[in-house]
Amino acid sequence: MSISPIPSDLIPQLRETVHGRVIAPDDTDYDAARAIVYGGIDPRPAVIVRVADAEDVATVIATARDTGLPLAVRSGGHSGAGHGSVEGGIVIDVRDLDGLDIDTVARTAWAGSGLTAGAYTSAAAEHGLATGFGDTGSVGLGGLITGGGVGYLVRKHGLTIDNLLAAEIVTADGQVHMVDEDHEPDLFWAIRGGGGNFGVVTRFKLRLHELDGVVGGMLIQPATAESIAGFIAAAEAAPEELSTIANVMNCPPMPFVAEEHHGKLVIFGMLAYAGGAEAGERALAPFRTLAEPLADMTKPIPYPEMFPPEDPDYHPTAVSTTMFIDRVDLPVAETIMEHLAASDASLRAAQLRVLGGASARVPVDATAYAHRASRIMVNLAAFYDREDDKPRRQAWLDAFAKAIDQGDRARYVNFVGDEGEAGVRAAYPGATWNRLASIKGTYDPENLFRRNQNVPPAAA
Ligand SMILES: Cc1cc2nc3c(=O)[nH]c(=O)nc-3n(C[C@H](O)[C@H](O)[C@H](O)COP(=O)(O)OP(=O)(O)OC[C@H]3O[C@@H](n4cnc5c(N)ncnc54)[C@H](O)[C@@H]3O)c2cc1C
Repeated sequence: MSISPIPSDLIPQLRETVHGRVIAPDDTDYDAARAIVYGGIDPRPAVIVRVADAEDVATVIATARDTGLPLAVRSGGHSGAGHGSVEGGIVIDVRDLDGLDIDTVARTAWAGSGLTAGAYTSAAAEHGLATGFGDTGSVGLGGLITGGGVGYLVRKHGLTIDNLLAAEIVTADGQVHMVDEDHEPDLFWAIRGGGGNFGVVTRFKLRLHELDGVVGGMLIQPATAESIAGFIAAAEAAPEELSTIANVMNCPPMPFVAEEHHGKLVIFGMLAYAGGAEAGERALAPFRTLAEPLADMTKPIPYPEMFPPEDPDYHPTAVSTTMFIDRVDLPVAETIMEHLAASDASLRAAQLRVLGGASARVPVDATAYAHRASRIMVNLAAFYDREDDKPRRQAWLDAFAKAIDQGDRARYVNFVGDEGEAGVRAAYPGATWNRLASIKGTYDPENLFRRNQNVPPAAA
């Protein structure tokens, strides 16, 4: 694909017109500003605009349209496909849209799309309130919410989009829309799972829930076929106050795990019971008896402690894939063990998230996340250290995914990587795809927002 030439007055023009900061390749903070989370993806954009308001967003959109330069939209920078940046193009970086206005009486919050899940969670917890996001504090609201949001409150309160009440979004024509169930409901539907296809969200209005901490944290146990199948059975049988993530992986050299277990396969469990302490202890008990814990840090904790501190300079290179399965019985757990044991990647993991609860009660067509009946979300990953190692890691990944495939073709868009149309189609099956394409045709007929899991506009 040919890239349009960069006009010589691009930077001065933008500096003159926008309120936020315009960062060009010769600025000292250019490299820091363009960094995204995953290693091995390193685009050098022509310019990064740290927009200060919706007006800036409209100005930059107009510049992208006029110059023909490719446009990327960045919030937390966690896109596995590197969609938060673009080679030779313009990046709308929303990280300075970080306002948070909490209404403790109505239990709602207006949150800037550049906030991270962690920052929002900490601020809301000061009022004993929470909205569920994912499992990682540094993920940005912009990408997480527009794609769905599956995290530690998913069984109790649904996906993040199930708690989205309204949004402010700037579309490809530069118009600012305030959308909700009653105002432009199609556009509101599309941004609940349809990703960045429809415009740049500047603010989200989210529902907050009372949450006086959780009973949970980290539980590390030896992985065997029995402990894996037992974990999933316990997670399925648990009250929906409990959401869990089982990371079956080789144990990193963590100081609180005895050295003899380092490198061995473990279940690195993350559990969160959103309810009272006593009931929480009861809900966690079946997990603790699955195998002698190597580390048990589960206890009543403030909810923000589910999101441990992260190293901002950590940029792993990994192959990964995502899928849904219906069951993890003993044969499936044995297959998981076999494949993890067969790899010598410095880190390889099968992440299992039991869904259900509130997330499964939302009608399939209520949002653009159509996977309400899918029971267990699986993410498989392996790190690679050198580029020439990637093909064999990819081959291992493909064989692993094939071995546990149970016929569910759907995928959660926020874990889809750079997989072309097939990955996007799997995220948006049948009627969801058709409705998204039609709404795209209305709001972005020229596909200006295409650096994403792209749904091309349906012809008018
Ligand atoms: C370590 C890690 C852990 C994760 N854990 C979870 C998890 O537990 N649950 C879960 O649901 N997901 C999880 N994810 C996936 C994550 O939700 C997606 O990668 C998401 O797209 C990241 O959002 P971002 O804003 O950080 O990324 P970015 O790379 O900044 O943005 C990704 C894309 O989102 C769109 N976008 C961003 N901002 C806006 C905006 N303001 N308006 C419109 N579109 C926008 C754009 O298309 C952009 O290309 C995880 C990812 C990583 C890397």
